[in-house]
Amino acid sequence: MLEDIVDYVVLGEGERALFELMSGVDTASVNGIAYKKNGKIITNPPNNRLSTVDLDAIDFTKIHYKNYERFAMHIPHSIPYSEMHFANIVGSRGCWNDCSFCPSKTIWGRRITYRTPKNVVDELEFLVTKHNVNYAFFADDDFLVNGAWDQSIATEIIRRGIHIRYYVMASVRSASRFSNYEALKTSGCAEITLGLETANQTILNNLGKNYEIQMITPVANEIVSHGIHLGLYYMMRYPEQTIEDLEEDYYFIENLPFSRIRPSFITPYPGTRLYQEVEQKGLWLDDCRNNWQVMTCDRPVLKTHVSIDDLLEAREKIIRLYLSENYHTRMCNLIGNDALSQKAFLEFQTYIRKNLTKN
Ligand code: SF4
Repeated sequence: MLEDIVDYVVLGEGERALFELMSGVDTASVNGIAYKKNGKIITNPPNNRLSTVDLDAIDFTKIHYKNYERFAMHIPHSIPYSEMHFANIVGSRGCWNDCSFCPSKTIWGRRITYRTPKNVVDELEFLVTKHNVNYAFFADDDFLVNGAWDQSIATEIIRRGIHIRYYVMASVRSASRFSNYEALKTSGCAEITLGLETANQTILNNLGKNYEIQMITPVANEIVSHGIHLGLYYMMRYPEQTIEDLEEDYYFIENLPFSRIRPSFITPYPGTRLYQEVEQKGLWLDDCRNNWQVMTCDRPVLKTHVSIDDLLEAREKIIRLYLSENYHTRMCNLIGNDALSQKAFLEFQTYIRKNLTKN
């Protein structure tokens, strides 16, 4: 808006504000937007969050599912990419955690609003029957935080006999309290991805992750013991990180039973505590401040004690774990005789080998 690229910004949960804006309601009375008037930016009061009734009323049959399929690369198991019909689904909005780098709170606050399990499963069933979807990603911030809700979704999928595989994200805290992995597995849950971020407790504390690193191994083993793949989100280039910290991360990760790991670089988005810290301490790399083209989490944007070359090498070392004998043995044990998973795994290995050789 400062650069005159957009006329209006919808702040937070967008459905109500966007609808009013597009219906021609006077901008001064549309809550939850910012706009320019006489060269000044005006920010209207925020909108109330949508309720469960409001969320259930959204017509999911109007969403263009086909657009999601291109996001389905890099999943090393469960359904081969060549046979995948993929869709995103969101059952709840918001996260109870308060990680310093995460923009979730700036959009939803920290209150979680849920769709009813019936409505969520109605959408899954619609995806399967009308769009032939066979793999879904629950984009909820922390899918395992409400065990009763998860249980109802799993039970309803099983009761209706819906054949789908899906994966979810969860915080370590929620995953360690969750107790019904078997029901999730039976309903089609193929992967649970946890926000590990780093193995260094001091950095975890600074990030506000609010979990102890020793919680990870038991919960990882528990997930895998039910035949569910473990995914990990791993971030690098914290301002205080050293090369020794990266090595500590590597040896910790090497001993976790993960099927998939997503290494990325920490990226400060406006509205987060990390962004404020980076601004105050002047931690941006040259030309990275508010440069949206590099704010992808795949490019280093902060100054640290670690050189870019060392950082890229550390990331490649993590990715090379996919080629280790240990990883292969683990994946073969987990996949067993499931033909789809075997094919998916082979496709993924080909993809990784090709891309590592290219670099
Ligand atoms: S647990 Fe995930 S979604 Fe929740 S605040 Fe932390 S990073 Fe954000």
